[in-house]
Amino acid sequence: MPKVTLSQENKVSQYTEYPKLSLEHGERALIMLIEPEPTVEYKHVLRAPEIGPDGRVLMEERKTQKGDSYEAPVTEFIGQHLCFGDFETVERDGVDPEGCPTCRAAVEEEGIDKPTAHYAMHVIQYSLKPNGWVPRDPFAVELKAWTFSGTRLNQIIDLATDWDLSEHDLKLGPCENKKFQKYDINVSSNAQWKADESRIEVVKATYKNNRAEDLSTLIARRITKTDALSDIQKVVERIAQVNGRGTAPAAEPTAEPQVDTNTGEVTSDADAASKSNLKSMDLSDIMKDL
Ligand SMILES: [Zn+2]
Repeated sequence: MPKVTLSQENKVSQYTEYPKLSLEHGERALIMLIEPEPTVEYKHVLRAPEIGPDGRVLMEERKTQKGDSYEAPVTEFIGQHLCFGDFETVERDGVDPEGCPTCRAAVEEEGIDKPTAHYAMHVIQYSLKPNGWVPRDPFAVELKAWTFSGTRLNQIIDLATDWDLSEHDLKLGPCENKKFQKYDINVSSNAQWKADESRIEVVKATYKNNRAEDLSTLIARRITKTDALSDIQKVVERIAQVNGRGTAPAAEPTAEPQVDTNTGEVTSDADAASKSNLKSMDLSDIMKDL
């Protein structure tokens, strides 16, 4: 029977059930930032190209924000996790190959992305009357975790530079896209929670009794290095398959030149074979440090 050692790295994610601020399509939220500083963590997201029945990468049409269409490979989500690396090293170099197997794979392997910074902070969300920004009566609030990327952080920094956000609530939405949590943020003329002493008490008690000690695991899961390696391996194997080194289900050997749908590069089988000799997909180099 499998067993688990009682070491720090085997701790599981703790707050996956914690309420997150997430707007449905068309929904709005009135919130206030109850903490001055968000938590920041580096996160790896692993995706692998999807392979079609002909053994080639599946492509799909996508649209830019301006509405121009372009072709991009279809990717399958493999996993995401917090970077294992030293924070300052990743901040300085973009990766910490010594401390994190996924950073190391990002440097050494094709198709593994470097970690990106993500943020989380506690916010108070007001219960509102329908169709407006007026708090419900009786006054009620919920403590939630707001997670976001660097673009949103910059937006919040700009607002916090121009306004004292302890004196002004933030109006979010209406949400235009649930998946990408796309919505505008406007500064409210006041802070509803400061309207009277009883509201202040409700907000303080809600924060004190419900706050999560560590919001890191809401940014991404904290997994074991063994699990991270298993995800890395899945991506590496898929890329190898794409590059003609693995066994694509319906990829019959052919003398015809092949066009790489990803890069437009034309290769023959001979090229693919020599490519496979150039790059080893052996992960033992990364594994030995574990
Ligand atoms: Zn990393």
